[in-house]
Amino acid sequence: MLKSSHDFSYSHYREILSKALKEDYSFVTFDQCKRLPRTKQIVLRHDVDVSLDHAVKMAQIEHHMGIKSTYFLMLHSRFYNLLDEKSLELVQRFVELGHEIGYHYDLEILGRKPAKILPIEVAFVSSVIGVPISVVALHNPTFQRQRFKSPKNDAYSDQFFRRLKYVSDSLQLWREGCLCHQLNRHPRIQALIHPIWWSNSGKHWREILRDRKNQEDRSLSNRFKAYERFIGTSRRLRVTSDNKFNVSLSSNRIQSKPSCLKRVLSKSEPLRSEREMRV
Ligand SMILES: [Zn+2]
Ligand SMILES: [Zn+2]
Repeated sequence: MLKSSHDFSYSHYREILSKALKEDYSFVTFDQCKRLPRTKQIVLRHDVDVSLDHAVKMAQIEHHMGIKSTYFLMLHSRFYNLLDEKSLELVQRFVELGHEIGYHYDLEILGRKPAKILPIEVAFVSSVIGVPISVVALHNPTFQRQRFKSPKNDAYSDQFFRRLKYVSDSLQLWREGCLCHQLNRHPRIQALIHPIWWSNSGKHWREILRDRKNQEDRSLSNRFKAYERFIGTSRRLRVTSDNKFNVSLSSNRIQSKPSCLKRVLSKSEPLRSEREMRV
């Protein structure tokens, strides 16, 4: 018996996973799913569209329950930079927690030759994060799926999309009811869970986005303040070092001149930085 309503809280997420384990489902990767076609299984997939932090929280929950899933990361997310220092640290957390990494691609970015560019992006991301990537998933399939035939290793290719029951929490809407209702109705399931929609208290999507925006505003403001401090300090250091440089340059120049001129120059010629500072 489930304790909570079918909300998007972490406690209900744990309940869903526990129920699946009790019902003898095994959690497998996309690759394992191809090799074990007859067992009762769930391919658990996460598209990380907005926040790596949210996704790591979910990765921890699954790890504590002994569950492995696949996190599909974006190179072109509008909300995070996969290549920045903090993101690369978080990506390592997924790996440490035993999860698989997939690539979440956006056809709007790939341009006119997606079949050519996609493998290049996958190879690039894999080499930067230092983790092999063998599976991909299209971002916004509702709007983009008609434009491109999914490659074989895509979560939307027939072998994963048609042969498994596809269940998704997209837009915080379960099309056919919560994942917990699908258990035991279908032996093989591909479950797409977006980490951004889940929280401690099961917040509404509007509240989640508002909180996320506030967090990003604060973070951006702090980064600008830090950059301002850096520029201020660097400018002061530059002026000091220019002064020292000009002093040594100036004294060298004076020493190389005839001694009759040294006295004149040392009294009359101001240092370059002094001239600049007067302007
Ligand atoms: Zn439920
Ligand atoms: Zn997506």
